[in-house]
Amino acid sequence: MKIAVLSRNPRLYSTRRLVEAGTQRGHEMVVIDTLRAYMNIASHKPQIHYRGKPLEGFDAVIPRIGASVTFYGCAVLRQFEMMGVYPLNESVAIARSRDKLRSLQLLSRRGIGLPITGFAHSPDDIPDLIQMVNGAPLVIKVLEGTQGIGVVLCETTKAAESVIEAFMGLKQNIMVQEYIKEAGGADIRCFVVGDKVIASMKRQAKPGEFRSNLHRGGVASLIKITPEERMTAIRAAKVMGLSVAGVDILRSNHGPLVMEVNSSPGLEGIETTTGKNVAAMIIEHLEKNGGPNQTRTKGKG
Ligand code: ADP
Repeated sequence: MKIAVLSRNPRLYSTRRLVEAGTQRGHEMVVIDTLRAYMNIASHKPQIHYRGKPLEGFDAVIPRIGASVTFYGCAVLRQFEMMGVYPLNESVAIARSRDKLRSLQLLSRRGIGLPITGFAHSPDDIPDLIQMVNGAPLVIKVLEGTQGIGVVLCETTKAAESVIEAFMGLKQNIMVQEYIKEAGGADIRCFVVGDKVIASMKRQAKPGEFRSNLHRGGVASLIKITPEERMTAIRAAKVMGLSVAGVDILRSNHGPLVMEVNSSPGLEGIETTTGKNVAAMIIEHLEKNGGPNQTRTKGKG
């Protein structure tokens, strides 16, 4: 197969590993800088140009679209879909997953366990909003944040009130969430490919920190997940319409709670922690499911 990897930087671990795994399995792998792909939308024959030439003959595309280029990246991916190129994850699903609130609404509709989460616009509604999530301690999250930035733990109602007020004053969209204390600063990353969890790891926050993000000094280790956690992760990815996803789960007293479903999960942490060849499993998935005109949406939606 001829496979495009949409990525801003060929030197990134995940990009390198996908190219390596694809090449090893006999495919032609081409890294395309997402922001340098440009497109002709008006013609009846949709096209993507790259460095002055049209892109042609691709069987599949692997989107590695960073949060900062979601809008442009999804447009490029949608164009690939319109050309009949099979995407590892579809553009609609990626766009959906990038909106934390929309994602939680979709997951809740399908009865997937979530931390109690509130969303409001007016400062007048702050007291009831805090009541809704069972009061302090609680977590406040900026909707557009990544890597734990904009995620704040408020220990008291007073602190929560003023932080929420401050964010609202700055016109930042935030959600307010019950704090899952019993998770003990740890979460579980389940790496879903197709309808399987192919690898999982626990991430533990460093002492004095509640956010377990590896970028925030969290430490990853091996973990055996329960059948319920496995089912939850697979269902969450399916609800979002993602073939490949990193589903982040908190272990609560009343079962697994999904915090986030990531559509471009990094490979470095999961491969080094588990010793598994996750990149090869992603390529295998493309081999089984890819091919011309296998896109469900053809760029619609
Ligand atoms: P980001 O997308 O920026 O990583 P997350 O929503 O994943 O933001 O939150 C970052 C980290 O904070 C999580 O990995 C988790 O360890 C911790 N965390 C987030 N929400 C909660 C919560 N409701 N209860 C307990 N810990 C949480």
